[in-house]
Amino acid sequence: MILINQNFTKMPKSYLFTEVGHRVSDFKRAHPEADVISLGIGDVTLPLSPAVVEAMKKAVDEMSIPETFHGYGPEQGYPFLREKIARFDYNDRGINISANEIFISDGAKSDIGNIVDILDSQATIAVTDPVYPVYIDTNVMAGRAGKPLADGRWSNIEYIPCCIENNFIPKLPTKAPSVIYLCYPNNPTGTSLTHSQLSKWVEYAHRNNCLILFDAAYESYIQRNNVPHSIYEISGAREVAIEFRSYSKTAGFTGVRCGYTVVPSSLKGTASDGTTMQLRDIWLRRQCTKFNGASYIAQRAAEALYTTQGQQQTAAQVAYYMENASIILEGLTHSGLTCYGGIDSPYIWVKTPATTSSWNFFDILLEKCHIVCTPGAGFGPAGEGYVRVTAFNSRQNTIRAVNRIADKLGHIE
Ligand code: PLP
Repeated sequence: MILINQNFTKMPKSYLFTEVGHRVSDFKRAHPEADVISLGIGDVTLPLSPAVVEAMKKAVDEMSIPETFHGYGPEQGYPFLREKIARFDYNDRGINISANEIFISDGAKSDIGNIVDILDSQATIAVTDPVYPVYIDTNVMAGRAGKPLADGRWSNIEYIPCCIENNFIPKLPTKAPSVIYLCYPNNPTGTSLTHSQLSKWVEYAHRNNCLILFDAAYESYIQRNNVPHSIYEISGAREVAIEFRSYSKTAGFTGVRCGYTVVPSSLKGTASDGTTMQLRDIWLRRQCTKFNGASYIAQRAAEALYTTQGQQQTAAQVAYYMENASIILEGLTHSGLTCYGGIDSPYIWVKTPATTSSWNFFDILLEKCHIVCTPGAGFGPAGEGYVRVTAFNSRQNTIRAVNRIADKLGHIE
């Protein structure tokens, strides 16, 4: 008998995007003529920028001759990239983070999933709801989530609702958790927190000895000045927070795979036997054992983003998607739908009309307008009654999708 990890038996059978995929394939099979536009899965559509392509080609050439070939690299990432990140993403913005506190990865999802390795098995978790499902599922796999409840929640996880009623600003947890996941700008709601709103969480974490896992995958989409790009802009965050960053949405790296995690040396934790250690040292130990580094070519590609050309080209890509976001925001609002997000984020969180559920509205948009969105209920109980629409598409498709919704659904009361 092969003994398997029991926690997997508790996992819900269908992952959100698998179910979306099934419904879309069924629809396309039944209506092969339909011109379906996807504003569903949050993958980028623009190709890599010229600065990135050039750097990757150069790196491939280096790999082709013995003198400049690169084998295994440092587990923490090449210093050439860590030093640029420390300077451009932090020090030049007045934030004290050193190259030594930065860990290059093959993307934020791996690090967000793997970070649970360094937490105590009894650590308690709080998440904002709706939520990026990876925060929950990785804790379920690690046996930390408790039992599944009838409404889709887990008994040992505190869900903090973010909805119209609280203007998408989460209240502080009712019972101090060991770990708090925060994602800002938020996926899926597209909303953001201001400096003073995020400061309350850092103060709370200090008062209650919590660790904040701050997911800043959408940092480059921030437009407003009072929205922090990093949790380390908040004083005291170095002692309570780990930050995850990704080049996926910033620079179209979803297929290249590169991101990084910041674990400040001032962040300390205590094991159940009373031993105190730097989280940075534990994470390095974990990475050296289970990770052999991101590819040299991907790291050279990421380095190119910090050149003047790289910065300009990346900013142009972000601006392109944000123009799509404003077209969606304006168009759907004009059709009578109530929309949130889409200002510091490529996601628009749309309230479903009247009593229509998330999945019902998903079906209506697919069947009547041939448009794919993501049902909010798939992101947690507080996502019921909303759908997520993404700005990751061509300008032409975005305009066509918005016009179709106006034509086919008419004005929604
Ligand atoms: N965090 C959030 C909130 C995301 O939405 C995503 C991707 O969609 C990720 C992390 C993962 O990013 P990566 O492609 O770097 O693994």
